[in-house]
Amino acid sequence: MPALKYCCGEQLIMVPGTRLAPEGEMPGRGYRRLRLEGAFRFKCVRCDYCCGTGPNIALTAYDVIRMSRRLGMYWKSFLETFTNVIIADMFPFISLKGDEKGGCLFMERDEEGLTSCRIYDARPMKCRFYPLHVASPSATHVYLDTKCPGVDLGGEESVPTRLYEQYVWELKNHYSKLHRLIFEEGCEPLQALYKLLDDLWAEAWREKPPWSDLKHIEDLGST
Ligand code: SF4
Ligand code: SF4
Repeated sequence: MPALKYCCGEQLIMVPGTRLAPEGEMPGRGYRRLRLEGAFRFKCVRCDYCCGTGPNIALTAYDVIRMSRRLGMYWKSFLETFTNVIIADMFPFISLKGDEKGGCLFMERDEEGLTSCRIYDARPMKCRFYPLHVASPSATHVYLDTKCPGVDLGGEESVPTRLYEQYVWELKNHYSKLHRLIFEEGCEPLQALYKLLDDLWAEAWREKPPWSDLKHIEDLGST
């Protein structure tokens, strides 16, 4: 029986043979453990490691609504065009699609080969927070991806805690709302995801909550 661990409030099934991150660096994985109040050095060199290899970007429903509104698309068209949705263990997971080489469909290159994001102001939380990764919603630390060539360059930065809090809030809400729809209200996984997206879409247009305001999200800081 695989070990069970909690991730984003949900149970994550650990593949047999894997082990959890020890204190400090994760051997062989290139992640450095960092306290929330800790500092790190970082300067983006606009390579294509993060946006061009994968992409490996998990989205929440909040990301989907912000990105679709930014592109002037209905959330369902956005989902069909730019994402993969898989159902695993009765749960829907959304990730960004890549091109044939694995590059993010929103990545652009200038004439010098430097990369940028076509939807920078509406980029997913995962991208805003990179090269940091959320460890778990209740953790007092994050992980720094030392495979990013910009890590340990440039000046000292602190973890953007306001952004971190918003990111964790969105993760918790995304997973708990889906959990309720599926396991308490009996929705099928895809039906639950569509209902959540429909609800957030309506909320964004009618109530204009802070999470839907790109300026507000940008003001929370980034790495
Ligand atoms: S964040 Fe890191 S991996 Fe991504 S473009 Fe910047 S330097 Fe490269
Ligand atoms: S959405 Fe933008 S920042 Fe995120 S992986 Fe794609 S190009 Fe990079």
